[in-house]
Amino acid sequence: MFHELHRQVRNQLEVISGVAELGDDRAAVALSRSEVPHLVSAVRALLDAHLPDADGYCRTCWGRRWWFHSRPNVPCRQYLTARMALMDFDANPKHALDVA
Ligand SMILES: [Zn+2]
Repeated sequence: MFHELHRQVRNQLEVISGVAELGDDRAAVALSRSEVPHLVSAVRALLDAHLPDADGYCRTCWGRRWWFHSRPNVPCRQYLTARMALMDFDANPKHALDVA
């Protein structure tokens, strides 16, 4: 069951990416208007579980572990991953840490 869900999501992402990168302008604009809002909703839904608490820490990534020791000095992994993807830091990941 999970394999089918995984396949469907990955295929949809491949189609969107393929049209955006290789489609003609008309197809890219149509895709942008129809699919970008869904992509933004998907990213927001994934990040909703990682909202910072009142002290600015993600409890999903760090749970309650840090309450008993010291506060983490690294950002939420999901937000860092999202920022890297949105800013296309794959080419130079060093910059992702500069802005975290
Ligand atoms: Zn997190």
